[in-house]
Amino acid sequence: MSKPRIHVLALGGTIATRPDSTGAMQMGLGADDLVAAVPVLKEIAEIGAETVSRVGSHSLSFDQIHALATRIRDVKADGVVVTQGTDTMEETSFLLDLLLDLEIPVIVTAAMRNPALTSPDGPGNLLAAVRVATDDWVRKNAKALGVVAVMLDEVYAASDVLKVHPTRLNAFASTQTGPLAALVEDRVVPFALPVRNAVVAARSKLAGVSGKAAPVALFWMSLDDDAALMPFMLAAPDRLGFRGAVIAAMGGGHTPERATENVIGLAKAMPTVVSPRAGGGPMLRKTYGGSSSEIALREAGLIWGGRLHPLKARVLLETCLRAGLDRATIAELFDAFG
Ligand code: ASP
Repeated sequence: MSKPRIHVLALGGTIATRPDSTGAMQMGLGADDLVAAVPVLKEIAEIGAETVSRVGSHSLSFDQIHALATRIRDVKADGVVVTQGTDTMEETSFLLDLLLDLEIPVIVTAAMRNPALTSPDGPGNLLAAVRVATDDWVRKNAKALGVVAVMLDEVYAASDVLKVHPTRLNAFASTQTGPLAALVEDRVVPFALPVRNAVVAARSKLAGVSGKAAPVALFWMSLDDDAALMPFMLAAPDRLGFRGAVIAAMGGGHTPERATENVIGLAKAMPTVVSPRAGGGPMLRKTYGGSSSEIALREAGLIWGGRLHPLKARVLLETCLRAGLDRATIAELFDAFG
């Protein structure tokens, strides 16, 4: 029986670093190097390897991920594995999930421990990603799963996965839903299919999005915060280039009362999404009164971000604005996230 064809696209990140003469890790390895480091891959699949870039994911751009999505659509393979840095994987995987609607598995993976350390996790994660991409259940349900992240032998939905620790090996989690599957020995053990109606609805409005970048500001609300930066941003030439904003709000969707005027001023000036700084929702809609709680903010025109983490809300808002969607449509898409 012929082996499935899996195409590995390497962007960079810790998984692709090597030490320079001082011992500092620098971007360096390409897709061929990553694949060559895991000889067993050849027994599982016919592997294609393509180096897309050699950058840390902390420096990736929306445009680069749009270009990557275009490349993935053109790949002739039974599955795609993207290797990149861990720092923005929670955002890039969600953006790919919004942009791609494919019948084949698309897996994003990375490494926390660099190749110069004892027991780096990159080779194991790449092997796990390829095993997941070739698994029968995953292939049969590729469309239902959407883009997934594979780290440390667990499979996570792109809309839920978060980087929850800066350095340790088990740095990824889906805090709201848990993993979709686990890898044990060489088997994928399925747990659940993700609920994807909101992603599918968003994708139907975003299909073929090709507009230019629409920068979205992120304001993280904190104790005693008066959001004084907001009016400065609005008063600056071209609003500093920003076309929308995400407010990472407290609790079920609250901002400090002393910030209310600025928050509402922002929402009047540009599409402004409220998202839970607690890391994921859903948020409240009709419980608390007062000038800066959810009832008042929703009445004042703030868009309710649903269960999406603020980083993922920012990805969705940028994509909506890039696609030229109006405020009402954007609000409707976010609403579907609960
Ligand atoms: N800064 C690196 C990056 O995201 C960290 C990593 O890969 O884990 O590219």
